[in-house]
Amino acid sequence: ESMRKSRIKRTKTVCTYCGVGCSFEIWSKGREILKVEPQVEAPVNGVSTCVKGKWGWDFVNSEERLTKPLIRKGDRFVEATWDEALDLVAENLKGMKRTHGPDALGYIASSKCSNEENYVFQKFARAVMGTNNVDNCSRYCQSPATAGLMRTVGIGGDAGTIRDIAGADLVIVVGANPAESHPVLATRVKRAHKLHGQKLIVADLRENELAQRADLHLHPNPGTDLVWISAVTKYIVDRGWADQEFLNNRVNGVDEYIESLEKFTLADAEDVTGISREELIRVATLIHEAENVCILWAMGVTQHMGGTETSTSISNLLLVTGNYGRPNTGAYPLRGHNNVQGASDFGTMPAWFPGYEPVQDDKVRARYEKAWGVSLPKQPGLNNHQIVEAIHDGKIKGMYLFGEEMGLVDSNINHVHAAFEKLDFFVVQDIFFSKTAQFADVVLPAAPSLEKEGTFTNTERRIQRFYRVFEPLGDSKPDWEIIQLIANRLGANWNYHHPSDIMDEASGLAPVFAGVSYKRLEGWNSLLWPVNADGQDTPVLYTDRFRFKDGRARLVPVDWTPPYDPGEEYDLHLNNGRLLEHFHEGNMTYKSRGITHKVPNPWLEVSHQLAEERGIKDGALVRLNSPYGTVKVRVLVTDHVKGNELYLPMNSTEEEKAVNRLTSSYHDKVTHTPNFKEMHVKMEVLEPE
Ligand code: SF4
Repeated sequence: ESMRKSRIKRTKTVCTYCGVGCSFEIWSKGREILKVEPQVEAPVNGVSTCVKGKWGWDFVNSEERLTKPLIRKGDRFVEATWDEALDLVAENLKGMKRTHGPDALGYIASSKCSNEENYVFQKFARAVMGTNNVDNCSRYCQSPATAGLMRTVGIGGDAGTIRDIAGADLVIVVGANPAESHPVLATRVKRAHKLHGQKLIVADLRENELAQRADLHLHPNPGTDLVWISAVTKYIVDRGWADQEFLNNRVNGVDEYIESLEKFTLADAEDVTGISREELIRVATLIHEAENVCILWAMGVTQHMGGTETSTSISNLLLVTGNYGRPNTGAYPLRGHNNVQGASDFGTMPAWFPGYEPVQDDKVRARYEKAWGVSLPKQPGLNNHQIVEAIHDGKIKGMYLFGEEMGLVDSNINHVHAAFEKLDFFVVQDIFFSKTAQFADVVLPAAPSLEKEGTFTNTERRIQRFYRVFEPLGDSKPDWEIIQLIANRLGANWNYHHPSDIMDEASGLAPVFAGVSYKRLEGWNSLLWPVNADGQDTPVLYTDRFRFKDGRARLVPVDWTPPYDPGEEYDLHLNNGRLLEHFHEGNMTYKSRGITHKVPNPWLEVSHQLAEERGIKDGALVRLNSPYGTVKVRVLVTDHVKGNELYLPMNSTEEEKAVNRLTSSYHDKVTHTPNFKEMHVKMEVLEPE
């Protein structure tokens, strides 16, 4: 008995799926996972997990894992040794840089990989290759939230913790479906609502699970959130309910902002948004009556042409009502991937060094130049969206991407695939032969989180360590090791032996991580950045000052952009989002047996009214057409959606059902985040039932 027990290993890890950041112990024997056991010590989730964290790990031992480097030979890929593959990568990157200049290459980082891996990747792009053309998938999701918060309060992260959300008197959820996308966080809201009298308002096109429980479910017309939020803010100001003391002491731009609200009357808002005047007044009253308010939002807000403006309007509302800088208040953009916060924090963004210091700031750049011993490019680089366009324009000729299924998750993927085909050289590093890898010249086999060490940062800015459960499968390697091997072949002479060496370097350079170290993060310990040199962390932001030179926040006037509409022919609005059981493109969850058994496929949600009009039933097969492409998918008739609204989960590994064959290349004006949520389509019925 005891011998058997001694062969069982228990290892702490952090979930590889959503941004909630649950941690738990993996019980393993050999390469087998015996169970996933959450522990009370886990700072975010205690003893809770969701179905993905509990059952979504089979992919680690999947037969489809990449175990050897692959090199393209014509239409085929052949296995190669690491030396062959790395030599080929280094030779091509070097040659292209020499011939076309450093800015002819683009670098796409991974929000599934660790902080340390993202740090070395941006260092590789900047210091070794000489360009700021480096970005991560926050461009597809929360960049507009970051931009809206940077403008108003100075930090692009959650204002407090999940505990603060649970402690608020009123939670407002806008354009998000936490019960499926952030399940353990949603349970905290459900509990507070049910047991502690928390009030809940949900604004979403779909009647999702939280909307069903809410005190008020607002159903705005697609793309009109900015209008109702600003109208509610105006009503609060007009009634004299603004927090005047807070505005006087802590906020700039008040008069100009209040003047700019003139256009957001209740009558106009009712017209544009379809939300009744009574409901708008009820929202304002609930905010007024609540001591502490938290507003949560996600892709339903950000993936629009006006995503940054709407995010700004949310932050404005919180400022006007004094809901910042105290526990149980503030702005909470809900981060999608487990480490999308960390990937951005650690500098895989075209305009920012780690810790959100601008690449254009001479002083900051000098600090990095001294540490890295090279001169660095001053101009911000291209983001994901601009990289795709620059490939089409012939300006970018090579790309290095790791841990990102860009060929399925970017918008308008037919256009993206056409760009991939134009590349002279494309390196893809992943744990699977992804859709994107099919376009590569070299595919490098990486190791997932259970096969390496590192840290992830969750939506609360909480940095947590994960430990190695298994050795990397076959010849695969941790991403940071691969990046280092390539860097050193290009003359970098890096010498990281362990991810902690990388964290030590990053915390020595980026002031917000000053006191972050592996020692302080040992076991179940965690730190919420900013962390000062003494190791003091910051669960609640802005208690003394906002992150601007004068310490004061800024109210920023906003304008509404009507959503994109491809024309009358496309008569149905198509929304998209996540399923509880699957994650993102599904490269990991569809390889987990239990999960795929339960949900083998995504389906199209159709309202009862539309189903009746078109004579279709559950299981009908339909084709959706947009100006950009088509998908073929089966129907689920449901009352989650109303009228002419459709909903297609984004979680599909099959290109035939991938919603991004339909989405366009239009995007948020400030951040270039695609307008995934602004799509009209037409529907052909192929089989009515
Ligand atoms: Fe993982 Fe998110 Fe589920 Fe927690 S809620 S177990 S972090 S997917």
